[in-house]
Amino acid sequence: MPFGYKPKNITISRQADSWYVSFKVETEPKDTPKAVDKVGVDLGVKTLAYLSTGIAFEGAKSYKKYEKKLAKLQWRNRNKVIGSANWKKAQIKIARLHRRIANIRQDTLHKLTSYLAKNHSQIVIEDLNVSGMLKNRKLAKAIADMGFHEFRRQLEYKCKLYGSQLIVADRFFPSSKTCSNCGWHNPDLKLSDRWFLCIGCGSFLDRDWNAAINLSRWSHHRSHACGQVAADSLG
Ligand SMILES: [Zn+2]
Repeated sequence: MPFGYKPKNITISRQADSWYVSFKVETEPKDTPKAVDKVGVDLGVKTLAYLSTGIAFEGAKSYKKYEKKLAKLQWRNRNKVIGSANWKKAQIKIARLHRRIANIRQDTLHKLTSYLAKNHSQIVIEDLNVSGMLKNRKLAKAIADMGFHEFRRQLEYKCKLYGSQLIVADRFFPSSKTCSNCGWHNPDLKLSDRWFLCIGCGSFLDRDWNAAINLSRWSHHRSHACGQVAADSLG
């Protein structure tokens, strides 16, 4: 806990075999100088986030290996007698791995959201409560894995803290399917297409970067103008 803060409340919790003490402190909002005015952020499945400025944040790859280990442990533990000493030992190992994975994810997200809120005046993100996306089971799992909801929660409070503004783009804004250079619309862009190739102007760039640039230009006005037209072409 930073020196000089008075804790508002203290929580003691137990995870796996360790005890944790957490303090809630009240801090004054602190505006930071912003290097970039407006940034669009595209949250991806392969890359955690692509910013319109060209910066890409990789996801926490390191937890993948722990996930494999976790699956192995759970599989090995399947025949043990529930409640036995060996079973208990394995359960603690499993819980520890769960905690490690959660910590890595949380840490990655904190780095991203702090960077965004501290260095950009306006941050445009997608509205991710999209039923179409969640109907796709594979994508839904990826969304959950990346902690997209946690991403938004962190960004909301950090924007308040550092004096930036969070803008959530209309869910029908076709950020992925529109060329960020000329506005050409590609209705056939698939989720598996990693690159955006524009037939209109010949632009060829990473699909997530293209989407991020479109998001950085999003405004309420535009969404109302084309929301109806774009409603059937989510993406
Ligand atoms: Zn184009």
